[in-house]
Amino acid sequence: MGRVLMIGAGGVATVAAFKIVQNQDVFTEFMIASRRKEKCDELVKAIHDKGYKADIKTAQVDADDVEQLKDLFNSFQPELVVNLALPYQDLTIMEACLACGCNYLDTANYEPKDEAHFEYSWQWAYKDKFEKAGLTAILGCGFDPGVSQVFTAYAAKHYFDEIHYLDIVDCNAGNHHKAFATNFNPEINIREITQKGLYYENGEWIETEPLKVHQDLTYPNIGPRDSYLMHHEELESLVKNYPTIKRARFWMTFGQQYLTYLDCIQNLGMSRIDEIEYEAPLADNSGKTAKVKIVPLQFLKAVLPNPQDLGENYDGETSIGCRIRGIKDGKEQTYYVYNNCKHQEAYEETGMQGVSYTTGVPAMIGAMMFFKGIWRKPGVWNLEDFDPDPFMEQLNKQGLPWHEVFGGDLEL
Ligand code: NDP
Repeated sequence: MGRVLMIGAGGVATVAAFKIVQNQDVFTEFMIASRRKEKCDELVKAIHDKGYKADIKTAQVDADDVEQLKDLFNSFQPELVVNLALPYQDLTIMEACLACGCNYLDTANYEPKDEAHFEYSWQWAYKDKFEKAGLTAILGCGFDPGVSQVFTAYAAKHYFDEIHYLDIVDCNAGNHHKAFATNFNPEINIREITQKGLYYENGEWIETEPLKVHQDLTYPNIGPRDSYLMHHEELESLVKNYPTIKRARFWMTFGQQYLTYLDCIQNLGMSRIDEIEYEAPLADNSGKTAKVKIVPLQFLKAVLPNPQDLGENYDGETSIGCRIRGIKDGKEQTYYVYNNCKHQEAYEETGMQGVSYTTGVPAMIGAMMFFKGIWRKPGVWNLEDFDPDPFMEQLNKQGLPWHEVFGGDLEL
């Protein structure tokens, strides 16, 4: 019944693979394909070493190449393709899905390689094509984007007639005991946080200088943490789908040490995403050199710790949620819904840290919603376009339990 092809074999994909294998009543056929087949085989071995029995196929594919993707899709014939590679590959994978009659799910919106700019317009442009082909595309099914939208949809469905103020608050209070490391793909992460901040107020988008607006917010079981206003993709669909929203913002915590390193990286030019010329030794060991083009941020990624290796010594927890103010039956109502996830528990279950876990679990749940026929409608959709209830129920069952606070002080 559930023939799924997952693309990517990184941190998020590892967690999603464990979760798919834990739910083999839904996912009956499973293939993992990535740029390097050996990464897929290592992942299958890690799953078997943990004692799971599952027949998992693996394959090599360059997801930048639509023809290679089409060949793979035509041979495995997945009903759903779960894209856990990088945002650069979203459009090529969507193209191949359309060509081969496959449904689609991802966790991050498309971003061109040469422009650190993310918005949904590129993927929303595929809406008619998916609709006409009778195929479902589910966009941004991680935690944020992802669960943050399911939380908002759940609040709108059950507790509010109108949502007026929405703040998505993302805290990582963990410690990996490295001087500097990112929690997911370093290239994507650094591109995201060095951008200008953006929030929505009274029908307008307001830009702020990168990480300039910040305030202490108190997170459950963690305490106060300095939280920075950032641009985050789900705000774009949420203000469109909930037109009563007067203000929508996204906040993320960063420690002072992290910010100091980030500042140095930027000042040194290592966060640049344009190509520079570099005099590199030839691979033939002749001692000769040649000019090659490199992107500084991609080079930096190669020397930074791999987020997949952070789990073992990672302690502490994450806390991500939505703080909402609005009206129910004519009265003002405040509501805070959140999940806390412990890095060590995530590591013991999957070998990955909490940030990969909080992204990979929702990706699997979204795929499960598709195969159960609950989230299946032709077109291109964000998560708040679907019924949140069955997804919320699965969060509790699949390792990301959530909690609610009614009527408290939202601090915002
Ligand atoms: P990783 O870099 O760990 O993994 C990416 C994987 O994709 C790697 O296995 C990589 O191969 C593979 N890959 C890269 N390019 C290609 C290609 N051209 N063809 C085939 N495979 C390719 O990233 P993460 O696991 O940390 O992140 C995965 C995704 O999840 C990203 O899009 C990220 O933005 C998103 N994300 C979403 C979050 C959310 O809450 N919504 C939070 C965190 C991440 P190789 O191993 O060879 O490098």
